[in-house]
Amino acid sequence: MFNLTRPKLVTLAEAEGYADVVDFLEDYAQCSVVPAICIAPDCDHTAELEPDQRAGFCEVCGRPSMKSGLVIAGMI
Ligand SMILES: [Zn+2]
Repeated sequence: MFNLTRPKLVTLAEAEGYADVVDFLEDYAQCSVVPAICIAPDCDHTAELEPDQRAGFCEVCGRPSMKSGLVIAGMI
């Protein structure tokens, strides 16, 4: 089962202009570059990264904590 209720995933979808996480995931499921968000508790930086990114470098907090929305949802 996909995890669509994680706060970071909701934050990321809203940052991209989606009221519904499912719409966000459907639009990006087949893309080669997708929105990612920093999963550090005190940081909500977003960027466009590879769909399978799990430990991307965050330009704001400097930690390897960028995850793509598809990874956070458990789709990859
Ligand atoms: Zn960060």
